[in-house]
Amino acid sequence: MAERISESLQKRLSSRLEFYEDLGIKLFFRDRGAVAVPGSERGLELPAIAHFSTPDLQKEQILPKPAGKLALQKTAPAVMPVSPKMASLPVVAGPSLFESIEKITGDSLVKTREDLGECTRCRLHSTRHKIVFGDGNPKAELIFVGEGPGADEDAQGLPFVGRAGKLLTQMIEAMGLQRKDVYICNVVKCRPPENRQPEEDEVRTCSPFLFRQIDVIAPKVIVCLGAVAAKTLLQTNRGISQFRGEWLEFRGRKLLATYHPAYLLRNPPAKSEVWKDLQKVMAVLGLEVKKGKSSP
Ligand code: URA
Repeated sequence: MAERISESLQKRLSSRLEFYEDLGIKLFFRDRGAVAVPGSERGLELPAIAHFSTPDLQKEQILPKPAGKLALQKTAPAVMPVSPKMASLPVVAGPSLFESIEKITGDSLVKTREDLGECTRCRLHSTRHKIVFGDGNPKAELIFVGEGPGADEDAQGLPFVGRAGKLLTQMIEAMGLQRKDVYICNVVKCRPPENRQPEEDEVRTCSPFLFRQIDVIAPKVIVCLGAVAAKTLLQTNRGISQFRGEWLEFRGRKLLATYHPAYLLRNPPAKSEVWKDLQKVMAVLGLEVKKGKSSP
């Protein structure tokens, strides 16, 4: 028999649901097939809570490993290594909060932008000038996901328009594409002050909008530029060098993480590694990989 949930958990759940409503996520459902985590409060009574719990980047590595057959039920994990080398990447036990976002019917980039509104959900709003939502082809086969806007992006409201952006543009053009062919966005939509990395709670607050962008665009390939994007989409704390250039999956879509263009500006020799990664992407997209062409 199921146990009753405590009043404090009920309160936490209602405030969590209100928070998601604020984000424009309204369609929640109870997945009766979700896995009970033995010994945990959430697994006993409310399997659906597993859908709503946000990925905790700090704790993710110590999540209990799903046991035996139970772990194999239902939805595919958010991270599914596709090469044997990646077998050690953490695998999320069940559908995450963000997979429930897939259940938003009739979602669109316009609706996502409207739901984001003149956002004040996290502290970044107080120092930003412009929200940088994303830019490019809403039907792109390829999405680039960066970390967060810098000063130039904050001033213009467009992603990757500063120095790192110029290098990204060169990389896109070296692939035989133009910026208007791809979609470019970031994990957080407001500039972190002094270009610091976004904090965990800022990522947690903003990333549902990124997930909606990805779901709506439904690209063939997602390229994560740098560790913040990779860690956010893969829900891992592992260093990017452990899986850079490997094909992984994000909710059934091909994902490849490579170095951030800002890192390449500081460390130009790494460009050749990134170029190799992008050539893998080109092969998947059916773009001609010219022999001998060197990195941008
Ligand atoms: N760096 C990012 O991660 N994103 C931008 O939009 C610009 C620089």
